[in-house]
Parts: sequence; C-alpha cells; structure tokens
Amino acid sequence: MKKKIAIIGAGIGGLTLANLLQDNSDFEFVVYEKDETLNLEEGFGIQLAVNSISVLNQIGFSSLNKSDFFNPEKLDFYSNDNKICDLDLTQFNNETEKYTTLKRSTLIKFLKDKLFSNLIRFNKTLETVEQNQNTIKINFNDGGSDKVDYLVISDGVFSQTKSIIEKKSFKPNYHGAVAIRTQIKAEDVSEFKTKNISLFMSSKAHLVSYPVNDNGDINIVCILRKNLNENKSIEQLLGKKFFNKNKNLSRFFNKDLKIWPIYTSTKPVKPSLKNVFYIGDAFHTFPPTLAQGASQSIESAKELYDILIGNKQNIENIYFEKRLKKIIMINNRSRLNYFTFHLSNPVLKIFRNQFLKHLIKSDSFINNYLGKIYK
Ligand SMILES: Cc1cc2nc3c(=O)[nH]c(=O)nc-3n(C[C@H](O)[C@H](O)[C@H](O)COP(=O)(O)OP(=O)(O)OC[C@H]3O[C@@H](n4cnc5c(N)ncnc54)[C@H](O)[C@@H]3O)c2cc1C
Repeated sequence: MKKKIAIIGAGIGGLTLANLLQDNSDFEFVVYEKDETLNLEEGFGIQLAVNSISVLNQIGFSSLNKSDFFNPEKLDFYSNDNKICDLDLTQFNNETEKYTTLKRSTLIKFLKDKLFSNLIRFNKTLETVEQNQNTIKINFNDGGSDKVDYLVISDGVFSQTKSIIEKKSFKPNYHGAVAIRTQIKAEDVSEFKTKNISLFMSSKAHLVSYPVNDNGDINIVCILRKNLNENKSIEQLLGKKFFNKNKNLSRFFNKDLKIWPIYTSTKPVKPSLKNVFYIGDAFHTFPPTLAQGASQSIESAKELYDILIGNKQNIENIYFEKRLKKIIMINNRSRLNYFTFHLSNPVLKIFRNQFLKHLIKSDSFINNYLGKIYK
C-alpha cells in the first residue's frame, strides 16, 4: 500500500520534496500551506550552489528557460570600494551542474508548476497532532484533518508546527542585522562586473550583488548590523555604516527598498514523535553569509527522500544525524564569514584582505571550505 505523507509549508524545501515524491508511485502526498497563495511576484534573488542544482536537475530544472537564470563565473571580493581578489566559481561546476542565480519567485514557480494543482492545499494551518501506533493524525484550524504515515515540517524559520509537535515554544533569535534589498539594471552600473557576484565588505555591513537572469536584472542585498532598539532609520544607518566607505554604491539605495530582520535558529531538535521530520529552515536557519539557506532546504528534502525510499529502520535518527553534521559545518562557516565580512578595525581589515588573497589561491582550503559543502 502507498505510504501517505503530509508536507507542512509550500516553500523551497517542501515543494522540492513534493516534486521528488510525485515521481514515485510508492507514495502519495499533500502539501499544506498556511497562506492563500504562493507569492510569485517577488523579484528578489537567490544563489544556488551545485549541491542544490544537482537535486533540482533530477526534477527537470535543466529545462528551465535559459533567460530566467544566470550562471555567474566569479565571486569578486571588495574591501570598501577596492577589489581584493576573486574566486573562480566554475571550479565546482560540471557540464550540467553550475552555480546559479535567479529570482526566488522563478524557483518557486518552477517547483509549483511541476506539481498537480490539487496537491497543494492553501489556507491550512496545523493546530494539533496525534500519534496513533504507526499513523499520525493532523488537525487543521478550519476543522479539517488528515491521517498520514509521515509528517514533514517545512514551514520555515518561524516554524509554528515545530512548537506544536514538541509542545514547547521555539523562537528564532534576532541575528542583530537586517537585510536591505533592491534591484537595479546592469546598464546602470559601471562600478563592478555585472556578470559576476560582487561582495563588498564594509564595517559591520556587507553588500552582495548578482544578476538574476539574462535580461540584465541585478539583485542587491545589503546585510547591516542593527540593534532592535536602534532608533536610527535604515537610510541613516546605511549612510553611517556603508556609504561613507562605499560612496559609489549609495545611489542604488534611494528607491524601493525592502527590509527584513535576519533570524537564526538555536540548536536543531530531534522530533519527539516517530515518523516526523524537519527540513529546510524549520530544521535549522543560519546567517545568510554562505548563501546556503535555500540550497540546504533543497538538499535536506533530497536527503529525506532518499531515506524514505530506502526502507530502513530508525529513519528519524539516520536523517537527523546526517543533517546535523552538515548543518554544523555550514553554520560554523556562515558565522565565520559574517564575522570576517564585517570587520571594522583597519589593521584587522588589512590582515583579512591579505589572508583572503592567499587563501583563495589555495586549492586545499577552497576544497575544504566550500567543496565539502557543495558536494
Ligand atoms: C537576506 C537573505 C538572503 C538569502 N539569500 C539566500 C541565497 O542567496 N541563497 C540561499 O540558498 N538562501 C538564501 N537565503 C535563505 C533562504 O531564503 C531560506 O533558507 C529558504 O527559503 C528556506 O526554505 P524553506 O522551504 O525551509 O522555508 P521557506 O521558503 O521560508 O518556506 C516556508 C513555507 O511555509 C509556509 N508556512 C509558514 N508557517 C506555516 C504553517 N504554520 N503552516 C503551513 N505553512 C506554513 C510559508 O508560508 C512558506 O510558504 C536568504 C535568506 C535571507 C534572509
């Protein structure tokens, strides 16, 4: 008999798992999403390293229209306005799996369009969960319910469902920084190579720009440290922390800014119920300084899928231990990057820049620091 799976949350992780399951006749599934629709308007960008592209290719990503994404070849590092060095991103690529940048909405649309529309149910928020022997009964706020063999939680960084299952409140921590995003056109920029990813390191702030398609749309995100009780406006903080050192970039931020506080998780938890799994940001959310959030959501969906089809015992432990190992590695590197990108001491900055120039040429460092994550 087919095994039934409920997936809570139609984000990047949940939709990836749904796509993998759709092609396997041993499973049936439903995705339950709390919102009334998926936001396909939002134009902000996302970077996907080869670890997630290899998974997405299995569900047809390579057939996506070539003008809807971009394959940057280099990551240029700047200290304030001065270029220090660049990282060759193609060293991790192969013929079919390439470092990719695109709009988040393009990715969500791709994942959604591949699914039969009746497999995503909207306006559904889970309220209670009951475990009975080998089945799990889930009850929703609208009075509906479902009985499933497996329950997968992919409701993102604020995962309410995790708190319901663990019967304990889980709140992510404010990371002490905000993300300020905007979009520009490649023809409006001469300061940096618009075909590359550019990373501008400043004091207590950094900015990343990259193309999101072949039409010259450039995504810009500035990560700026900000205390919750800081009463200066974002414009004042940008001026103080960023544009006094990076004057050329100030003009990008005089229009249409979107601001998000950045949250990160505390320790991942092993689900207290059998046959329940957390994936993506619901498993763990790290700072965005390794650009691995979405890639890890995709990778965790694939890891879980492989374990579910493997017919093994004790699958909660197998999944949890494998995921935990990877998460620790990424979390440590993301936090180290965050610290390094935001140095403000001028002497330390000189050391950092020299060190970076050297490290970037070291194959063993690059393979260890990034290669292990992209595998
Ligand atoms: C500034 C910034 C830049 C980033 N840049 C990158 C990048 O370049 N590369 C990268 O890989 N990652 C990046 N990330 C991280 C990435 O966006 C996330 O890690 C990723 O979207 C997580 O996917 P997910 O499926 O776990 O959760 P989400 O994509 O957040 O999806 C969660 C889904 O669950 C739904 N939901 C929520 N609560 C409930 C509920 N109770 N019941 C049902 N449904 C619910 C939500 O509506 C949503 O649809 C960035 C993050 C930030 C903040």
